[in-house]
Amino acid sequence: MSEAQSGKLRIVIVGGGAGGLELATRLGDKYGRKGKLDVTLIERNRTHVWKPKLHEIAAGSMDIAAHEVDYLAQSYWHGFRYRIGEMIGIDRERRQVLVAPYLDGEGREVTPKRSFDYDILVMAIGSQNNDFGTPGVVDHAIKLETQVDAKRFHERMVNACIRAHAQSSPLGEHQLKVAIIGAGATGVELAAELHRTTREVVAYGLDQVDPQTSGSR
Ligand SMILES: Cc1cc2nc3c(=O)[nH]c(=O)nc-3n(C[C@H](O)[C@H](O)[C@H](O)COP(=O)(O)OP(=O)(O)OC[C@H]3O[C@@H](n4cnc5c(N)ncnc54)[C@H](O)[C@@H]3O)c2cc1C
Repeated sequence: MSEAQSGKLRIVIVGGGAGGLELATRLGDKYGRKGKLDVTLIERNRTHVWKPKLHEIAAGSMDIAAHEVDYLAQSYWHGFRYRIGEMIGIDRERRQVLVAPYLDGEGREVTPKRSFDYDILVMAIGSQNNDFGTPGVVDHAIKLETQVDAKRFHERMVNACIRAHAQSSPLGEHQLKVAIIGAGATGVELAAELHRTTREVVAYGLDQVDPQTSGSR
C-alpha cells in the first residue's frame, strides 16, 4: 500500500544498531504509537548488543542476556514494526527494499524472501573493519564486529583451554597465545578482560593449564 492509500508516510530503516535502533524507537514513540507514521526496522539479528560491549562477550565477562535488547519486544513497546532479515538489494524504481530469507541455525527457512515498500528509506547498516588486504587476516584472524564474532572467539578460547587441559603431550609454544591487533579502547580492554577471565576459566578445574605462562603444569 502506498502513502496515498494508507495516509501514512512509510519510513523503512535498515539496520538496528546504535543509530537505527535509536531512530526507530524515537520515531515510534513520537509518531508510530499515535498512528502518524508507519515505521519499519529491518535487521538481520534478533537482538541488539551495543558494540563497545563486544570485547566483554569475547572474554566471557558479560552476561549477554542482561545487556541485549530484543528487537521484537522493543518494537512492540515503542510503536514500530520489526522485520527480521538481511537486506540484499534496493529497487529504487519501485521504492522497495529486498530482504533475503531468514534461516534458523539448522538452515530451515523462518521467513521467505520479502520486499518492503518505503516512502523514506534510512540506511543504518554501520561499517566494517578494513584489513587493507593484509595476507592471512581473512583466513586466520577473528574480527570483533558482531555478536557472532565475539561468541566465536569466546568459544575458541574456552575450547583451547579445555584441549590444553586434556592433552598428554606438552603444550606447543603458541598454543594458548592470543594476539590482539589494535591497541585502541577495545584491544586494550580485551587484553585486560582476558587476563582475568582466562584465570576464572582455568579455576573451574582446568588445573593442567598455567594461565601465568600459558603452558601446562
Ligand atoms: C568492538 C567495537 C568497539 C567500539 N567501541 C566504541 C566506544 O567505546 N565508543 C563509541 O562511541 N563507539 C564505539 N564503537 C563504534 C560504534 O559501535 C559505532 O560507531 C556505532 O555502532 C555505529 O552505529 P551504526 O548504527 O552506524 O552501526 P552499527 O551499530 O554497526 O549497526 C549496524 C546494524 O545494521 C545491521 N545490518 C548490517 N547490514 C545489514 C543488512 N544488509 N541487512 C540488515 N541489517 C544489517 C547490523 O546487524 C547492525 O545491527 C565501537 C565499535 C566496535 C566494533
